[in-house]
Amino acid sequence: MRKLSDNNLDHCRAALAQLNNYIDGELAAELCRDLDQHLANCPDCRIVFDPLTKTIKLYHAFREVLVELPPDVEARLLQQLVMRD
Ligand SMILES: [Zn+2]
Repeated sequence: MRKLSDNNLDHCRAALAQLNNYIDGELAAELCRDLDQHLANCPDCRIVFDPLTKTIKLYHAFREVLVELPPDVEARLLQQLVMRD
């Protein structure tokens, strides 16, 4: 039960393959649940996903408020947010 099986590795690969869709919010609800479940049980993948999803959420929140900002300003703001974390 506690061995790191190849099966788990496959799940990791599958999870990482869904990363972009997950971030874009385009992942099917069922896949999303699988992914969340995997993340809950896999610290390795959480290390990869956590900062990303946090950043993306911030980004979306910011985009709603700061729609008028020039892209370079937006990029710098985003960078600051990431570095502060
Ligand atoms: Zn994993």
